[in-house]
Amino acid sequence: MIIRKSPSEIEIMKEAGRVSARALRLVGEAVRPGVTTGELDRIAEEAIRQEGGVPAFKGYRGFPRTLCTSLNEQVVHGIPSSKIVLKEGDIVSVDVGAVVDGYYGDNARTFAVGRVVPVAEKLLEVTAESLQAGIDAARPGNRLFDIGHAVQTVAEAAGFSVVREYVGHGIGRSMHEDPNVPNFGMAGKGPELQPGMVLAIEPMVNAGTHAVESLSDGWTVVTCDGQLSAHFEHTVAITEQGPIVLTDEPGAGLTNG
Ligand code: MG
Repeated sequence: MIIRKSPSEIEIMKEAGRVSARALRLVGEAVRPGVTTGELDRIAEEAIRQEGGVPAFKGYRGFPRTLCTSLNEQVVHGIPSSKIVLKEGDIVSVDVGAVVDGYYGDNARTFAVGRVVPVAEKLLEVTAESLQAGIDAARPGNRLFDIGHAVQTVAEAAGFSVVREYVGHGIGRSMHEDPNVPNFGMAGKGPELQPGMVLAIEPMVNAGTHAVESLSDGWTVVTCDGQLSAHFEHTVAITEQGPIVLTDEPGAGLTNG
């Protein structure tokens, strides 16, 4: 069942989104060669708690940290550590969520560490574009799979592939609600999108094939072919006026897309 949110609930979710977006921005500003993913995690947790929020991922199914930090061929769910040092040329996907007044915000972005190879630069650009295409499709009257179709079209036109096993999701009083929001699919299929639905749209785009596997830590997902992967995510409310990105810092403009 897809839980539709009232306008007042969406106002609270804007605050959860703002806190999540601010944490992601502050982490992004700290990304540089030599910093550890453990330090990035500390920055994010402090940023969320400063604003009266609670880290959404910490303790979720036993996940130990505030952030997921996934480097290079890692797709999602990498665990931050004081032993993992970013180096020039890496890309690092950072996923962060916050709970405010019982509602969740969730966003992600892949950052370049210093100068990166051209394919990495292109992968980041295309993944951000694919997220924007998905957001643009999140409007009343469209169907759910119109979102994934839009994401997939942009990613594949660039010669990249979209991950199948991990998808976006409804979000509200729980981090993961119905429906699943795949990053692929046939246009015109799936439930009709209606005002009040709130979705976390999160393309995971691989430079090579779409196949992924999990590492023995039980969390980290990597590409099977060892090529790069990127991940961008926003929490988006569907309204009569069209999509509204909730993981935004008003006044600062869109920072994550
Ligand atoms: Mg998510």
